[in-house]
Amino acid sequence: MTASIIQPGEIQPAGVEAPFIRLPEQAIFSRRSERFKFLAQGHAMADYLKFMAHIAAAQQQALAAMPQPSLPDAGQLSLCRQHGMPPLTAQSWPRERDWQVALRQIVGEVQPDARQATRSAIERLASADSNWLEAQAGHLLASRYDQLDLAAAPFIGAALQVYWVAMATALGLSAFGRTDNPTLCPVCASAPVASVVRIGGEEQGLRYLHCSLCEAEWHMVRVKCSSCESTKGIAYFAVEGSSGAVKAETCDECHSYLKVMYMERDHLVDPVADDLATLALDILLDEKGYMRSGPNLLLIPSADSPT
Ligand SMILES: [Zn+2]
Ligand SMILES: [Zn+2]
Repeated sequence: MTASIIQPGEIQPAGVEAPFIRLPEQAIFSRRSERFKFLAQGHAMADYLKFMAHIAAAQQQALAAMPQPSLPDAGQLSLCRQHGMPPLTAQSWPRERDWQVALRQIVGEVQPDARQATRSAIERLASADSNWLEAQAGHLLASRYDQLDLAAAPFIGAALQVYWVAMATALGLSAFGRTDNPTLCPVCASAPVASVVRIGGEEQGLRYLHCSLCEAEWHMVRVKCSSCESTKGIAYFAVEGSSGAVKAETCDECHSYLKVMYMERDHLVDPVADDLATLALDILLDEKGYMRSGPNLLLIPSADSPT
């Protein structure tokens, strides 16, 4: 779906329209893996970021190996369009067990690299029955963090991302449109992990929210709270001495924040990888009393416990 979303003050050639939704490219996880490796260089959390690079590479392999998933039919898609609902709603979509196959592939791949605490979580996942895994996935997608096996959750998140990317890309852009809640993903109704101010062509200078689950992006005007849609009381924070490529957009109406990444400052920013490489910013915002509005499924639930 395309829509005319030119903002005042943005220069755009006549007749060219930016897409409202951008679906993930097929190589999304391998690009993310490279980004994690790059960000690990000289980073205080280099070992952690290198391990995340391995997880992302394993996600790409699992995506390539995933069979064609079941998808909503034409009737369901049209019903969703009529009612402004996302067709692949995370909390109600009947998951196939293929995501569990992806999970076992991912943990099998990264296990040799894992530290002891993570290795124990991997062993729990490897021996868990399918119903327990489904229950954990349900808790994660509904943000019931108190019921999660926290050390295992990032792997479950990684596998669910693979499954949702497979579904979203198999359906294609024409299946999706605007939905009733502009703060949630129009593909799967999840909250965004971060937003990206893009460069190039008709997307120059436009801000897209990046889905924490299916990796789709959807347009939202800049300087607007991505949680409560307020345009008042928006401010930006960065860690002192940083490149300015990643900032936190805070809202004084709902006291939440989400990171914004500027491709103009670094055209390779990745919403998931750069988020995990800038946890110092989350600590700063936590100290200022702001709550993060969207999750990073690879780090649940708080920013202070990577293992
Ligand atoms: Zn989504
Ligand atoms: Zn707000």
